[in-house]
Amino acid sequence: MFKTDTIAGISTATATAGVGIVRLSGGRAIDIAREIFSGDKTFASHTIAYGYIVRGDEIVDEALVSVMRAPRSYTCEDVIEINCHGGSACVRAVLELTLKNGARLAEPGEFTKRAFINGRIDLTQAEAVMDIIAAKTELSRGVAAARLTGRLGCEVARLREEILGLVANIETSIDYPEHDMEHLNLTQICAKGGEILAAIERLCQSAERGRLIRDGIETVIVGRPNVGKSSLLNALLNENRAIVTDIPGTTRDIIYDYVDIGLPLRLADTAGLHKSDDVVERLGIEKTREAISTAQLVLFMVDGPPEPDDWEILEMLAGKRVIVLVNKSDLRDEPMAELFSSAREMFFDYAQADISAVTGDGLEELCATIREMFTGDFGRVDELVISGIRQQAALISAAASLGAALETIELGLTEDLVSVDLQAAYAHLGEITGESLGEDVIDRIFSEFCLGK
Ligand code: GDP
Repeated sequence: MFKTDTIAGISTATATAGVGIVRLSGGRAIDIAREIFSGDKTFASHTIAYGYIVRGDEIVDEALVSVMRAPRSYTCEDVIEINCHGGSACVRAVLELTLKNGARLAEPGEFTKRAFINGRIDLTQAEAVMDIIAAKTELSRGVAAARLTGRLGCEVARLREEILGLVANIETSIDYPEHDMEHLNLTQICAKGGEILAAIERLCQSAERGRLIRDGIETVIVGRPNVGKSSLLNALLNENRAIVTDIPGTTRDIIYDYVDIGLPLRLADTAGLHKSDDVVERLGIEKTREAISTAQLVLFMVDGPPEPDDWEILEMLAGKRVIVLVNKSDLRDEPMAELFSSAREMFFDYAQADISAVTGDGLEELCATIREMFTGDFGRVDELVISGIRQQAALISAAASLGAALETIELGLTEDLVSVDLQAAYAHLGEITGESLGEDVIDRIFSEFCLGK
């Protein structure tokens, strides 16, 4: 499965920037760098050389060349990183030079795949690399960083080890019943298995939290025209520095703005909101319904006592987490009394907040209210969470196999059957760290990574 050819890729975004990095990894990385570099070519490991990238006599760019020889590198192979000037022409020219000199263009995620295949990281860490690159907020970065250190992989390894202990126990008691090693009896195996199952289920339950942390709380702002929705959006975007807008043109056709309020908020379709004042009017009632139905939080804005249209919007919010925002508090002397108390029962969660999108009054309190509403969903920041459907599916399968093993014991069936199910659980857990996955599945996982990583 391991390819020894030398790969090259652009590791930075090809946009106008101070620095761009072309990365090489493989047996010929250092030779290729020697071909195209004019500076000191001693290339001792973990040094940086200054010079020019050259194409024959022509200078392509001024560059710093970092050398990380195997195995102390990202991929565990010889790695060269050429720091040249940013912008697309420079990095492309340098990349092309490396290709002309014998490198092959790296596939998406191939550097990280080599780190995985060479055993430096497990699959949970490889996936954490992608999560940290994709992180939009401080919280998503922090949780991905914890996985990057291998915490999840360690926990999975611990659970596998315990299952293996049970398998060994059963097998030796079958093969050498006279062996005087201390066997666990079936009751003890059941108790231990139950503990492992609970730990697997706890991890499994973190999937939703992991998704929220990574993707943000899907939030939509609705309300009649001119109540101040766009103003609120702008106020939130201006007050919170960590804002990233998804690059359009990917598979999604909706654009999201991410707002970091301590928790990540993903504000849906705000490009549209910028263009038009009114989400209800612009999207039509059906689209609004759709946006509300997928939203995890609805910010329902009014600017005074409810009007007939407000009651119509309210009807669409049954079962949702709703915060009624009474905007334009700067125009009122008194805070607004609760407006929709008669409808309170119909919501999953409900709060009302007086705000002014123009002066910013009440926005901090609003953010605190949102944080409080979702605290239970996010859990403690340092809790271990899994990432993505792949990890969740493997945990579900592992739990099912372990559950089956425990059931077999309860039914009083033979110990061989218990062992078979335990081994299946062991293998499913191994899918999370990548130990029990086939080459094709590994290839597919890494193909979803970004280029140059
Ligand atoms: P949208 O149609 O709901 O997006 O409303 P806009 O954000 O476009 O705001 C409509 C009008 O209300 C604009 O003239 C805003 O300046 C004004 N507005 C919005 N928020 C406030 C506020 O908190 N106080 C005051 N006084 N005016 C506001």
